[in-house]
Parts: sequence; structure tokens; C-alpha cells
Amino acid sequence: MQNSEVYQTLARWGLRSQRGGGLLLSRPVSSRCHGVSPGEGSAQPGEAGSAQTLYRDTVLLPRTEFPMKLTGQKLLDRELQIQQECGFAELYSWQRERKAKKEFCLHDGPPYANGDPHVGHALNKILKDIRNRFEMLRGRQIHYIPGWDCHGLPIELKALGELGTSGLSPLQIRQKAREFAEGAIARQKAAFQRWGVMANWEQCYYTFNGAYEAAQLKVFQEMHSKGLVYQEYKPVFWSPSSRTALAEAELEYNPEHVSRAVYTTFPLAKLPPKMASEQGLENVLVLVWTTQPWTIPANQAVCYMPNAQYSVVKRADTSQLLLLATERTASLAPLLGTELQTVGTFIGSQLEGAICKHPLIPDKHVPLVPANHVTMGKGTGLVHTAPAHGMDDYSVASQFKLPVECMVDEDGRFTELAGPELQNLSVITEGTDAVISMLKESSALVLEEQCVHSYPYDWRTKQPVVIRPSKQWFINTASLKDKAKEALHKVRVLPESARGSLLAMLDRRTYWCISRQRSWGVPIPVFYHKETGEPLINKYTVSHVAKLFKEKGSDCWWELPIEDLLPPEVLNKSKAGPVSDYVRGDDVLDIWFDSGASWAAVLEESDPRADVYVEGKDQLGGWFQSSLLTSVAVRNKAPYKSLVVHGFVVSEKGEKMSKSLGNVVDPDEVINGKEDSSVSAYGADVLRWWVAESNVFTEVQIGPNALNSARDSIGKLRNTLRFLLGNLQGFDPRLQAVDPKQMYYIDQYMLHLLREYSMKVTDAYSEFDAGRVIRILQAFITRDLSSFYFSIIKDRLYCSPEDSLGRRSCQTALEEILDGVTRSVAPILPHLAEEVYLHAPGHDKAETLFKSGWIKSSSVWRRPGLEEAVEGACAIRDCFLSSIPGKNASQYDLTIALEPGLLFELMESLQEEPTSTSSQLAELMMAARVNLTNKLPRDLHPEALLSRGTFLINLEGGVIREDSPYSIAVTPTYAARCPRCRRYTSESTDCLCPRCQTVVSRAG
Ligand SMILES: [Zn+2]
Repeated sequence: MQNSEVYQTLARWGLRSQRGGGLLLSRPVSSRCHGVSPGEGSAQPGEAGSAQTLYRDTVLLPRTEFPMKLTGQKLLDRELQIQQECGFAELYSWQRERKAKKEFCLHDGPPYANGDPHVGHALNKILKDIRNRFEMLRGRQIHYIPGWDCHGLPIELKALGELGTSGLSPLQIRQKAREFAEGAIARQKAAFQRWGVMANWEQCYYTFNGAYEAAQLKVFQEMHSKGLVYQEYKPVFWSPSSRTALAEAELEYNPEHVSRAVYTTFPLAKLPPKMASEQGLENVLVLVWTTQPWTIPANQAVCYMPNAQYSVVKRADTSQLLLLATERTASLAPLLGTELQTVGTFIGSQLEGAICKHPLIPDKHVPLVPANHVTMGKGTGLVHTAPAHGMDDYSVASQFKLPVECMVDEDGRFTELAGPELQNLSVITEGTDAVISMLKESSALVLEEQCVHSYPYDWRTKQPVVIRPSKQWFINTASLKDKAKEALHKVRVLPESARGSLLAMLDRRTYWCISRQRSWGVPIPVFYHKETGEPLINKYTVSHVAKLFKEKGSDCWWELPIEDLLPPEVLNKSKAGPVSDYVRGDDVLDIWFDSGASWAAVLEESDPRADVYVEGKDQLGGWFQSSLLTSVAVRNKAPYKSLVVHGFVVSEKGEKMSKSLGNVVDPDEVINGKEDSSVSAYGADVLRWWVAESNVFTEVQIGPNALNSARDSIGKLRNTLRFLLGNLQGFDPRLQAVDPKQMYYIDQYMLHLLREYSMKVTDAYSEFDAGRVIRILQAFITRDLSSFYFSIIKDRLYCSPEDSLGRRSCQTALEEILDGVTRSVAPILPHLAEEVYLHAPGHDKAETLFKSGWIKSSSVWRRPGLEEAVEGACAIRDCFLSSIPGKNASQYDLTIALEPGLLFELMESLQEEPTSTSSQLAELMMAARVNLTNKLPRDLHPEALLSRGTFLINLEGGVIREDSPYSIAVTPTYAARCPRCRRYTSESTDCLCPRCQTVVSRAG
């Protein structure tokens, strides 16, 4: 029963009788011996001698014009030539116009237009391009429109340089900023094109384009109409160094920041009832701790935790009575250098109703109030509260209707309100000095200490920021949070671990300050009543302004008279008074709002949702968030179906790149080399391979080691491809390919492996894992091709007749392998892939690889049973080779003895005759001769090497399983070396082997 199934399996692979050299062996072998002069060598390449001359023309050595190596200027010229010849620039438009069933939309996060291209850009753009090219090859229509984020303070600052804004009008500032951004965009764009990134570079998006600005205002207007945009006077992060409010995303926390922290006292003016009822507690001082002493003048309250325990303690040295949290006393005593003796304890809630004197302002009294944000980790458990200068403080003030008095101006200096002693002092520096001195003078200062803590800095100026209140526009993110979280649940996040950060950031941000007091941005389309200050903003005013922006760009906000911005019909619909009552607003929108609205401006109008957004991890709190919030606000869904979050590029030592460390890798130098030749030119494909090979989900290292290794890897691949091309010279698969069922089993087996290879590669690309693609590729090339298949087939390729079935069968496999391997690396190495394709057979000259689709593997190539046959033979081969370590297998005869059964049947399918020098089995074994038998003969050569082993056959998905023992005997061959093919298959050294005799006589 089993045997019949084996026969069926074998029958499915093709004709069992078609083997052993096919056409060649079907001809009678001539007995005439071709004479060779004594001493003559072989016909193999590289060996000198006249025999080589004699048979050279009869041996089919690989020939190709595909160069082994390309370096330096030649490499660069070739890449540029390929970009030209193979139409890199037109590819994107070509694929947009072709018919495709499905679209793949990768929405480009706009890089910031404020500097030169860097390796971070390279990582991001190439990563995207690998995926786009893969999807394009697979037949999808790619939607990928590159963009730039063009507005904002960093550009404004760089454009203005040392000059600052002094004396320039908003329009003059904007003109300079625009020119600066345009310069940066041009340089970045040229680099992205050189890297081979597929796009229509004539049609990019820019956040300073009128149409983009209009789409953005539409989002703003929809959010405003839903009540999500509001104006409020409240504390925000304020950068004195750039005179503007900042959003959380524009802060950098400096963990080394040193503050002058103080312990200071507020004398109790009115005791709470419980304390009043105890004796000796008349002169209690409330002890507070703050890292920002400059905020003490703005104090409006002291907060306590209602359910914590508080103690009144007596200082052993001064007899002062201090009130603080009981659990803080132990750590405070050593700081004060005295003992603290407890004279009374209270529950926080028993402090209700207490009032203290302000330590610096005579006659000012402030209440003790309960609050949830009080913690016991630091300080005294009693929290100084300045509503104008703290977010928590502000919410306490709102709850208890405390005044919010700001004493700090836009430059970070005390205002008149702070009193003559402090006015005009910078709060962070001399203002802090002055306040501490005043606390000393009033005997309120208990202790000053240096406090190292994480403190927010302006991301551009690298100067510390302060918290101060101002009238700003906000988005109510708190009310969007739940919807945003829900939308995020439907989004696939890669790596999944990034989802937690996204959710945490949504939680942390309760509002989003979107107004900036600068000129280089999209104006907030709001008018203010001259007298009341009431803002005028509604769908009529915003739509009208958006229309103007679309036509003229947002410069018109400053250029046009207010009558044009606010024409009578708009005023009418708004039920507003005459235009003379109004002035236009001066604020511009946060650039995160600019880029966050890109889905509305760039994606298809029918369903503005991208398949994927791919950006660095810094965008978890940036573009990923702002895009999500705006999209959820307007249409209640995320703008992306999946997110890919990659790491940053670091130096080879794992350090952040910085000019001061001198470890910045310039992508232009990677490609073109350094002018002084200290760095060689790697070309764009090396840069792309580096990206593909890296684990992009962590920090990605770049340096000479990584780049040299990438170059060497491409070099090895190039050699493999060159070997394939060389052996396909003159082969046209359209005319000469062999039907898979007629092919040698080993060749069919390679097609089977190729099919598995292409499936694995396809999966890896689909999961954004180009690194896995490379590992699969390298294993296939090294293990399956170079050390296995190529070593076996050389004799058949070089020495069989050109048009023999055996050789054509092999070429058919090689052509498929060449095509499959080339396509599989094309998304990573588009230049090399097109270069190979220019040399590859089987297509019209005008056709390019990228226009001809993905790997065309066929299900006919799936050969599970055949896999067992070849792998069974390989197991025996391994046994054979390990019995003659370091020796040349072709000098040995191999006898394989197998019990009748499945494995014997399988081996018989590779060699029908009991003994052969030219069977598929002999080829696979690389032996001089293979004998296939049921039992080792008794009269073995005395020097025969004997080994045995077992192979587990697993056929029909496990239905057929058979443990098959085998034994082998290895003996040195008696045959002589054939002077043409160098195999030990000849009768004597001066005589060609039977196969070569035939070939030569036919040729002659
Ligand atoms: Zn020969």
C-alpha cells in the first residue's frame, strides 16, 4: 500500500524515466577515446596547459557583463544612471495611473523644514520607501505624498538669526522665514530623491500652502463649532527666552536642573477650632517648601491633605512651633540640625478654617485649604499655592475662588504688582535672590537648599521656562480623551509596547494650548471687539478667512484691510456690529495643530484614513497625538489604521549624535564619500541596506562598522547574482524553459525552496521587518544556493551540451532563482535590482523590474514528497562527506545500501540503474560513481569506509512515516580524471569520459 502511494507521489513529480542526463544519455556512448597529450591539465578554468586550450571552447563557463564590483565614482555614476534609465522619477505617477484593486496609503509625517537632511530622515524615509515599493510590486496602488512642516518658532528664530524680530513687521518676518524653509525643503528633497524614495516630488504638501492652511482652518472651525476650542486666562508654560506660550510637546525636561529650594513659614493668624482648643499653640508657624521661591509673592493659599496626619512640633533650639505633616518630621529634623518635639497632632481635615499671614505682604491673609495633589514624598505636606504659576495651584484657586494674580511679564520679569523691590527683576535669577533675601529679613526663611530635579526647558532656546497665566486658546482634550482612547483600540501599534505611551500621554494632557504669540504660522482666525475684548469667531468668519487663505495664502491676514477679512455679509450673518469695532487677532496656531490636521489636507477626501503612519518615537507625544485628537474631534475616528514607531539613530558607541561630540554621520557623506577621501563612497543602496538590516524598533546605530558590513553583504549578494547571470547567458526562458515536471528533481527541489523563500520574505515585509527579509535572504544564498546547489550543478552547467535537457532544466531553475532573489531585495536595493534586471534574460528591453511585479512563484513548485527524496539523499550525502573529511568527494565511489522500502524507492527515483556515474543521485553526491543496492556486498574493497545512519521519512503530511536505516561504503575510485570535466569518470587520464566524448564529438 505504501509503495503504491510512493509511486503516485513520484508520478506527480514527473516521468521517472526522464533522468540521468536526459537527451545526452539517450545517445549511444562512443567507445572512441579522444586522445590527450601526456601532462596536459584539465579543461577547468584557471588552470594552464594546452588541454585547456583544446577543450576550452567546449566548456560553457559563465559569461556576463554584469560587473563583479562597483566602487567609488563608478558606483555613484551607475546608481544615478539607473535612476535615469529605469525611470525612478516617473514610477510613482506610473503606478497611480495603472489599474489596481487595492490602495496602500502611507501618510508621510512632515519633517521639519529647518535644517539639512540627516540620518534620522534617512531611517524614516527609507523605511517607508521599502514598504511602499514592496506594496507597489505586489500590485497595490500606493498613496504616498511627502510633506514638510514649514511654520513655527524654530524656523523663525533661525531665519532671523542674530537680528531677532527688532523692527520687522510680521510680513517681513514671514518672508524671511518662508525663504529659509524653502531652502531647507529643497536640500532635503534632493537628498530623499537621491536615496531612491519613490514619490512624485513635484506634488508634495507644505503646511505653508494656502490650500493646506484652508483645510486646516476647516478642522479648526469644526472643532470650534463643537465647543472644543476655547479661550481662557490660565497658567501655561511660558518661555521668557522666546516670549511665547509653549505646549507640552515643545518642552524638554532637564534632569540636572538646580533650583534654590526654600523652607519658609507662614504664621497662623487664625487657628482652626481644634487647635485653638489646646493650650500653648498660639504661635504656630505653618512650614512650606518650594523649589520656586519667586512664586511666594503670588501666594494665595496653603494646601493640606485632608486625610493625612499633621503635627505641631517644637524646635529644641529656638522653641519655635512648626506645623507640618507628621510623616515628614523625621526627615526634617536632621536638616534643621535640631530635635523636633511633638506637642500636638491633628488630622488634615481638622485644619479647615485656619488662616495664615503672608510672609512678605503685610496685612495679606491666606487660607489653608484641602487639596488632592498634596503628596508626602517631599517637602512638609503643606503646599505653598500660587494660582498664577502652577497648574495644580490654578485648579485649587478655581475651586475655592481664589484670585489669580500674575506678577510676571512676558520677559519673565516681575511686574509693578510685585512691588518696587521686585519690579523688573528676572524671576528665575535675580528675582529669586531678592525674594529669598526678603524672606530672610522677615524671619520667615527656615532653610535654603540646592534641589536637583527635572525641570522644563524651551526645546529650541534650551532655556528654562516658567509657568505664568495668559489669555490663550485651548483645545479641550480632556473631553476628547475617552473617544481618542476608544479609537486607538482599533489601531494596530507596532511595536505593541508603544501603545501604553500613547495612552499615558492622552491621560496626562487635559488641555492643549494652541495659540502662539509669533508671526510665522497660520493665524488664528479670530477678531476682537476693540472695547470689550470679546472674540468674534464663528463658521461664517472662519469659512471666509479659509477661502481667502486658499486663494492668497495666509499672508493676506496681514496684507488685506480688515474690511476684506470681515466683509459686511459676514458681519451680518454673525450679527456683529460695524467692522470698525474690531481688530484682528495676533496669535498663530501651534505647529502641532498645523501638522495634526494633515490627514484633512492630504488624504483622499472620500476616506481620509491612512493604512499606516510611520514615525520616530518622539511622535508618540507629537504628530501621532495631534493627528489623533483632531481626527477624533472632527469625525470620531483615528486617521490611521496602524502605527509604526521606530527608534532614533545613535552613534556606533550608542551615543546621541551631536555636533559637540563630533559623531554626527552625514547621509550625504555616506553616499558620496568625503571630499578629502577619508570616507569612501558607499552609494544609496548601502544606506538603504543599513536601514533594512537594523532593528528599527530600538535605537539604531550607524558608523563605519555598520556601513562596511552592509557594503560587504551587498557585495556577496552581487556575486551570487553575477553567478546566476553568468550561467543564464544566451538562455531565453520564454523559449527554452523546461516544464517543471520534466526538470531534474534537484532543480524542482530548488523551485520548491524558492517558493518557501518567497513566502517567508513576503510575510516579513508585510510585518515591517526588513531585517528578517535580509536574514532569510542570507540563509537562502549561503546555505541553499552557494554551499549546496551551486556546488552540485557546476558540472552540468559547464560540461553538458548547451541545449541538453539537464542544462536547460538547471537554467530554468537558475532563472527563477535570479528573478525571485532580485525581486525579493528590490524594495531594499532598488538600484542593484534594476541593474540586475537590465542584464537578466526573459523580458523586453524597455521593461523595468519595478513595473513587472512581485516574485512569481507557482504552486506547482510545491513539492512536499520530492523534498523528502532530496533531503533523504542529502542526509546520506552528509554521512558520505563526513566519512572523508577534507577530501575531494569526486575521487570516491559510493555504495548506498537500503532495505527495500520507501527510502529505497525515493533513491531509485534519483538513480534507476544499480550503478551510475551520471545519475541525479551521483550528481547530488558529487561522487565519481554511485551504486544503489539493498545490501552492502561481501567482497568490499579492504580500505572501504563504512558508515550507517537513519532517515525519518515523513510523507503526505505525516500519514506516511518510516524510519529508514541505511549503510554506505566509500572506496577510492579506480576511474581516471577526465581532462575535460575533471570528474573521475574516465577510463584513463588521456581519455575523455563517455559523457565528454559525446559532447565533444557532437560539437566537432
Ligand atoms: Zn568528462
